[in-house]
Amino acid sequence: MPRAVFLDRDGVLNAPLVRNGLPYPPQTLEEFQVYPEASEACTLLRKAGFLLVVATNQPDVGRGTQRLEVVEQMHALLTQRIPLDRIEICTAANDNSPDAERRKPAPGMLLDAARALGLELALSYMIGDRWRDIDCGHAAGCTTIFIERNYTEKLRQRPHHYAADLLDAARLILSFEQPQPVPLAQAAHLL
Ligand SMILES: [Mg+2]
Repeated sequence: MPRAVFLDRDGVLNAPLVRNGLPYPPQTLEEFQVYPEASEACTLLRKAGFLLVVATNQPDVGRGTQRLEVVEQMHALLTQRIPLDRIEICTAANDNSPDAERRKPAPGMLLDAARALGLELALSYMIGDRWRDIDCGHAAGCTTIFIERNYTEKLRQRPHHYAADLLDAARLILSFEQPQPVPLAQAAHLL
């Protein structure tokens, strides 16, 4: 069964706009800056056999302060630069919106992608830079990796692992894929 690495967008794949210690999505294509390490990180994960699924809350669309068309242009640019298998967007304005079951921290986007791609969630990862990503990953039963960007907001649930950026997170995942060395006492029996 295929496994995925779920990726938050802003603060993971591209730089957010940071105001008063909190991240906000870029508003224009010009502001949409893909992190230099994102392509290498995603290529490494793809080669290791993971499907790559972006799961992004874009509430400004639901609030009417951003156009879906602009968000889709950003994603077209993203898929040109980075090998991605799927992008899930939730445009719900807030946690009480009718479609909020897809809004992180709810796991809907991950569950929908898992159904569509036949993913094994318990063997998948969620990488994000905010508490909503980590709680969403936990709710879906994934292993969570928190990218610490030193925002002023606090985490709620504890992530399984921490990373400095996406490449660091990708290397961490790959390190879990390495066969563990056999302890010496056990190895003696194999001789
Ligand atoms: Mg983010």
